[in-house]
Amino acid sequence: MAIKSLLSINKKKQKGVIVDRNKENSFPADLMTKCPECKKIYLTKELEHNLKVCPNCDYHYKMTAWERVSIFIDEGTFEAFDDNIRTSNPLKFPSYLEKIEIDSQKTGLNEAVLTGKGKVKGEQVVVAIMDSHFRMGSMGSVVGEKITRAIEKATELQVPFIIFTASGGARMQEGVLSLMQMAKTSVALKRHSDQGLLFISVMTHPTTGGVSASFASVGDLNIAEPQALIGFAGRRVIEQTVREKLPDDFQTAEFLLAHGQLDAIFHRKEMRDKLATVVRLHRKGGISHV
Ligand SMILES: [Zn+2]
Repeated sequence: MAIKSLLSINKKKQKGVIVDRNKENSFPADLMTKCPECKKIYLTKELEHNLKVCPNCDYHYKMTAWERVSIFIDEGTFEAFDDNIRTSNPLKFPSYLEKIEIDSQKTGLNEAVLTGKGKVKGEQVVVAIMDSHFRMGSMGSVVGEKITRAIEKATELQVPFIIFTASGGARMQEGVLSLMQMAKTSVALKRHSDQGLLFISVMTHPTTGGVSASFASVGDLNIAEPQALIGFAGRRVIEQTVREKLPDDFQTAEFLLAHGQLDAIFHRKEMRDKLATVVRLHRKGGISHV
């Protein structure tokens, strides 16, 4: 059925959401969705088949952690770590644990990061995949702990560590306990690096705040998806502080690549192949095939 006729049916019935116009950046389980960048309307299934990349303008939609596992990790090889750790409420923040529970039910995750081991085109790796659908991917004590344990596991197994970041920054409801995760994860990465092991950071939209200022930016290779927003403080805060207008493309992956903060931008469709090649090239004990 053509898009036009579906829309006209929707208009006539005035019920049953087909196009969700309010959730521009989300990917609801509705029949159709509108690209927030070029405003074209697509069948949701069509976008999913296209790895959630707009066929018209290449806009990369946000993905859930499990969706990334399904497109990045070899089928049947993923084994999750630490999926039962739960945060406490150290500052007695009102409704905090209730919100955690709601997001947990919504995403099927215990926290805003999914960690585990698996293979990428036959190469064994440990991965951490942040999910911005869980408390905007903010980093609290459990996110930091899961990432740290995953890095330590990669060190123990002597394999590369790959992280896909997506985060609004440190989690304010856990105060300084959130901030200390920046140091904790960085120390674990240093120990991993001291063993000569590879760490690849893949920044996806958005990667901001304390996450951008710690593990996300210290990869042996710092990669991003196209058009990802990456930065520490927000545009308005910086403009008010430095009293200057910032360039329009400031804090985009493309701007950061042009200014030396990124090593490469990989399209989602080529991410798996290219990262597998990098891992293979860095494999200890030589390359058997490329
Ligand atoms: Zn588009």
